[in-house]
Amino acid sequence: MVRKRKAEHEASRDLAIARGDEIYAGSRCRRGHDGRRYVQKLNGICVTCYQENQDIIMARYRARKASPKFRAEKLLHRAKKRASENGREFTITINDIIIPTHCPITGRPLDIHSQEGEGFSLDRIDNSKGYVPGNVAVISHRMNTLKCSATVEEVERLLDYMRMAELLT
Ligand SMILES: [Zn+2]
Repeated sequence: MVRKRKAEHEASRDLAIARGDEIYAGSRCRRGHDGRRYVQKLNGICVTCYQENQDIIMARYRARKASPKFRAEKLLHRAKKRASENGREFTITINDIIIPTHCPITGRPLDIHSQEGEGFSLDRIDNSKGYVPGNVAVISHRMNTLKCSATVEEVERLLDYMRMAELLT
């Protein structure tokens, strides 16, 4: 009985997604509202509950988005996608992703809300290896971009050049 209702609920939702509707007719929520629910973006939330508690729901959603666990899941998900696109080995799990408070390279605080600059990114420590346990670290986006764009030798040459420029000024 419950299973059947769930299947109907999902069918109604799929139909709304196919039509591009924002709301679909699902099952009644725990508080007995009429069953109108939001499609994708708000992930099946009851329309009435949402309208009555918008501030609380959004605050909870933002807090969840900023939690280290959520960020780690996001990093894992994105890395998995990249690995499959590039044919890289991928054997890490959520437990391999340790979210530090500071970038291990710059020592500056990582910004949990950002996806660039001081935001988190998942580095493959040894570039020749895939996403395997022991080969991943969370560093700032900026440092990861720098690391990806040059070889060790190039970085050494760049460093020499920058030091020389410092002596000249
Ligand atoms: Zn409701």
